[in-house]
Amino acid sequence: KTILISLELIDLAGVPCALLIANDITERKRLENEFISLVSHELRTPLTSTMGALDLLGSGQLGTMTEQGQKVLRIATTNTERLIRLVNDILDLERINSVKIFMRKVKCNAADLLIMATETMQAMADKLQVKLIVHPLAIELWADPDRLLQTLTNLLSNAIKFSEPGDTVSVIATLAEYKDVESDKNEPSSHNYLLITIQDQGRGIPEDKLQLIFERFQQVDASDSRNKGGTGLGLAICRNIVQQHHGKIWVESVLGEGSTFYVLLPLPGLQ
Ligand code: ADP
Repeated sequence: KTILISLELIDLAGVPCALLIANDITERKRLENEFISLVSHELRTPLTSTMGALDLLGSGQLGTMTEQGQKVLRIATTNTERLIRLVNDILDLERINSVKIFMRKVKCNAADLLIMATETMQAMADKLQVKLIVHPLAIELWADPDRLLQTLTNLLSNAIKFSEPGDTVSVIATLAEYKDVESDKNEPSSHNYLLITIQDQGRGIPEDKLQLIFERFQQVDASDSRNKGGTGLGLAICRNIVQQHHGKIWVESVLGEGSTFYVLLPLPGLQ
């Protein structure tokens, strides 16, 4: 159930009173989610078809195009791709947030996932001439491999996107002992976790934005969406996925020197 609590100050026959209102908004939330899901689905189909048509135009099968025509086509393609990404991200976030979708957790190898994620992002790194280095760790995890892969590729894609040619992006996996001081003040528990570190030498993130960027549609710069092609939903999705694995995600950064994203995942037996 989702309950919205609000407090109102009222005047009752000259006596100032505080009125506490509890509103059951479960149904409203469900309808909202259903609406988002419906709209995103309905948008995706025509967008995919538009993209297909643009691809066909670009392939030259329908005749050659003037230079001006090619330029217009490139703009249309870039913007359609952006819209598809946005719709997919909204749909994804809605799915992850909704109780209908579970993580399909299986035993999987952390090294395999890290290598797969870096290989997937290699083409993007090559294009931007960013060096990608990976130090995997062969360890078993209890996780949804597709969702974890999505998290890693999201973080890698950001690291590459906000780096300059010649920079290095490194992915390191280590075993970490994490003391959960929050859980019990008297007796802090310490466990073994897998710590994945994704480090870049890019532009960095201002201190006041370090937490904010994990919220939906939050970007450091309003022009990031236009210039870097993002939607501001990637990290919100990553955080959701990591939390559903009972893990933690955070970032440390120095402006102008780079950022380090950490993903901490409990090892089997701890969840
Ligand atoms: P986007 O789709 O815009 O990349 P994200 O939620 O993944 O959305 O990231 C939100 C914002 O956080 C980005 O637009 C960017 O401003 C900032 N950001 C994320 N990763 C990095 C990074 N590695 N270096 C610098 N800024 C970053």
